[in-house]
Amino acid sequence: MQTVQTERREFVKYSTLGILGLVLGGGIVFSPHANGFENRLRPPGAVDEKKFLALCIKCGQCLQVCPYHSIKLSDMAKGHGVGTPYIDANERACYACKAVPCVLACPSGALDHHCEKPEDIHMGIAVLEFPNTCLAIAKTAIPKGYNDKMHKFTNSVRNVTELETKLLAKLDEFEGKQCTLCADMCPIPNPISAIAMVPHANGGKTPEIYDGCIGCGACQDVCPTNIPSIVVKPRMRYEDYYTNKKERS
Ligand code: SF4
Ligand code: SF4
Ligand code: SF4
Repeated sequence: MQTVQTERREFVKYSTLGILGLVLGGGIVFSPHANGFENRLRPPGAVDEKKFLALCIKCGQCLQVCPYHSIKLSDMAKGHGVGTPYIDANERACYACKAVPCVLACPSGALDHHCEKPEDIHMGIAVLEFPNTCLAIAKTAIPKGYNDKMHKFTNSVRNVTELETKLLAKLDEFEGKQCTLCADMCPIPNPISAIAMVPHANGGKTPEIYDGCIGCGACQDVCPTNIPSIVVKPRMRYEDYYTNKKERS
C-alpha cells in the first residue's frame, strides 16, 4: 500500500502535463456523438458513459502516461465521441498498472480518481464467448508464432517501455504449451478472484470467470485463437452477465 501511495505521489509531482491539460481544456467539451451510447472499453475509472462524454476534454493525458500504449483516441471513422479515449482489447488491452496512472493523469473527472488500484477498476466483464474454439478445452497446444500480433504492435510504437518488453518475453514462453494464457496473464494479483482454469468434462480445461474480474481485456488480448475465444463485455458487471444469466435460465 505504502509503495502504491509513494508511486502515486511521485506521479503527481512529475505530471505537469495534467495541469497543462486543465488549462488548455478550458472547460467541458460536448461530443457530437454524446447521445450515441455505444458500448466500448473505456480506460480505467471511466464514469458512466453519458457523464464520461460530457466530462472528457479530449486532452489525451491518459494515453500519454500509459506504459502499455493501450489507450487510443477515437477518430471520425470510429465514432463513439470523436477524440475520446478507448481501448481496443484485440490490439492492446489494459494491463492494470498498480498505481493506475491513466486515472491520475485525467484532469477533468472523466476518469474517477477514486480508482486507485487494479481492484478498483470496473471496465467490463470477461466472457468465454466461443468455447468451441478455446484451445484449453480442445486440448490443443498454443501454435508457434501466435504472438506475432503483439510483436507487430510493439514494433509499431516509438517509445517501447520495459513493461512492454517484459510482457512480450513472458508471452513468448507460452508457445507450444497447453493454453492457460487467459488465466496466467490476468493482471489481478489473486487470479482466483478473476479467472481460473477448471477441469472440463472432456478432460481439458476451461477458463472460469469470477466476480473479481475487472474487465481489463488482457485475456482477450492474449487469447491465441483467430477470433479471441474470450472477450470482454464493456461496462458490464459480473452480476449483469453471470448472476442475471443464471436467473434467466
Ligand atoms: S491501468 Fe495502466 S495499462 Fe491500463 S490503461 Fe491505465 S495506464 Fe494503461
Ligand atoms: S479475467 Fe480477463 S478481463 Fe477479467 S481481470 Fe482477468 S484478464 Fe482482465
Ligand atoms: S487464452 Fe483462454 S480462452 Fe483463449 S484459448 Fe487459451 S484457455 Fe481458451
